[in-house]
Amino acid sequence: MSEKVEKVIILGSGPAGLTAGIYTARAELNPLLFTGAEIGGQVSLTMEVENYPGFPEGIAGPELVERMQKQAERFGCRIVVDTVTEVKLDERPFVVKTQSGQEYRCKAMIIATGSRPRRLGVPGEEKLIGRGVSFCATCDGFFFREKEVAVVGGGDAAIEEALFLTRYVSKAKVIHRRDRLRANLALQQRAFRNEKIEFIWDTVVTAINGDQRVTSVTLKNVKTGEESELPVDGVFVYIGRIPNSQLFQGQLAMDERGYLITDELMCTSVPGVYAAGEIQDSRFQQVATSVGQGCAAAIEAEKFVAELEDRAYPGR
Ligand code: NDP
Repeated sequence: MSEKVEKVIILGSGPAGLTAGIYTARAELNPLLFTGAEIGGQVSLTMEVENYPGFPEGIAGPELVERMQKQAERFGCRIVVDTVTEVKLDERPFVVKTQSGQEYRCKAMIIATGSRPRRLGVPGEEKLIGRGVSFCATCDGFFFREKEVAVVGGGDAAIEEALFLTRYVSKAKVIHRRDRLRANLALQQRAFRNEKIEFIWDTVVTAINGDQRVTSVTLKNVKTGEESELPVDGVFVYIGRIPNSQLFQGQLAMDERGYLITDELMCTSVPGVYAAGEIQDSRFQQVATSVGQGCAAAIEAEKFVAELEDRAYPGR
């Protein structure tokens, strides 16, 4: 076991985690950041980020996180490609164990582990992942040139990704369980104007069919109960996200959906443990809000460590 006690350990390498890395590094806390399996988080799978301030022409998601990573490293944040597999928050300093078999201790922790796509939970979905079932249009859209695909969901993600897919596919059929979209108006208007996008309203997917690859989906109209089969080559599922909070089950307060509960200072139910980004935010889920939450969590972690070490916090 490592003898050294870290001042702060950050879990997650999306915009929230990397911003916390920048701030805690500049505050000379010498942060240690574990990337997790998805380096860069969700935004690194986004082709174009158009609404992050400071980039009037937009910026590719992977480039944005790479810039954040460089900025954190410039101030001395140690970024380690490893996944945290266990934490003990009832001991102080807190204990962190990683997939590579290392064990660490830390005075403060910032959790920015983000969220993952929710699955439909219908027959065929699991078996056909990577064989036509996808949760990432940016990653897989290219493989569906001139093909017909289904996009499931009616939120911002579903509509944004359906629009993205029209670069490749001949038809994107958006299947939504209601007769009105949840997505913002600007996206809706762009989608309604796009000739490659068709909408199938009041409908759910009850099965994904195919042996080696997706060949069709079984649909059910929720108003009439009528069932039908729609031939497609791919199914892109965008029905919301699930927070990556399993590690903290029984240790930190979370809501019924698994989002960590934080106060206005980004502190979780355990003093010294902060959370930022999609792990605690079911509402906004923007790069800009995650960055802000990561910044706030870092400032509070810095104060916590200063008080623990009986140092004056600058500005107090
Ligand atoms: P949302 O929760 O906003 O939307 C999920 C969609 O999936 C809803 O239309 C919902 O239907 C539908 N749905 C949920 N469960 C099921 C199910 N079991 N079967 C069928 N349909 C289902 O999730 P998103 O991932 O789209 O967005 C999450 C957050 O991220 C939002 O705050 C969004 O604003 C933000 N975001 C912003 C972007 C941007 O600004 N460009 C891009 C992507 C995401 P119903 O409408 O009936 O509830």
